[in-house]
Amino acid sequence: CGIVGYVGKRNVTEFLLEGLRRLEYRGYDSAGIAVTTDDGAIQIRKKAGRVQELAGLVESSPVSGNIGVGHTRWATHGETTDVNSHPHVGGNGNVVLVHNGVIENYTSLRSQLQAIGYVFRTATDTEAVAHLVSHELDELELIGEDVADKEICVRAVENAISKLKGTYGLAILFQSLPNVIIAARNGSPLVIGVGKGENFVASDASPLVGHTNEVVYLADHELAIVHSDSFEVRHRESGRRDPSIHIIEHAA
Ligand code: GLU
Repeated sequence: CGIVGYVGKRNVTEFLLEGLRRLEYRGYDSAGIAVTTDDGAIQIRKKAGRVQELAGLVESSPVSGNIGVGHTRWATHGETTDVNSHPHVGGNGNVVLVHNGVIENYTSLRSQLQAIGYVFRTATDTEAVAHLVSHELDELELIGEDVADKEICVRAVENAISKLKGTYGLAILFQSLPNVIIAARNGSPLVIGVGKGENFVASDASPLVGHTNEVVYLADHELAIVHSDSFEVRHRESGRRDPSIHIIEHAA
């Protein structure tokens, strides 16, 4: 339902929780965050219920870092439970992602991935995407590619989304690439917020208010590679594009 992401210098946890609160108006049943900590581990906190309950969980089990993603879920596939809440983990944990939308071919993806050894822990359509990206990354690694290379992670995402039917807004963290968020969209809105030494990802501009008024709207079949001090937008067919920056008016 709602997505928020941040890469920069501040403590990401506060920003993510505040961003999720600002997305509450969209309606949701669960909330969660993933944060890459300074030692490079991706830590997840997620819970069915209100953002306030997630904030309670984070208070009792704190996590901090400078890059992360968050999600408010409106369950379409799989019950409203803590486990089915996003973020979801792919493979052995090399990929962690949040997803808005519906993957129509998730049943067949799920059985294909199960057949080659992927263990599903949730009843969501989204987990199939997480394992698929993880699998594509493993495949590239098998042929000798360096998975700490940004281009390889981009290719893994491109390969994975070429197999998806349905709608998605995705924000993805990679264990091997602790300073980048890859975002991809088809049918579910995503916007990049452009800051100074920090950049943002969100499903709409409301989490960005007060942080930046410069945004880039992703179009369908576009993918964004977001670092703290730069970002890049590519289209599936036409390749790299010069992102036009829109200035949003913020009500004070
Ligand atoms: N289809 C996904 C799920 O049920 C995402 C739903 C959403 O957009 O929040 O978990």
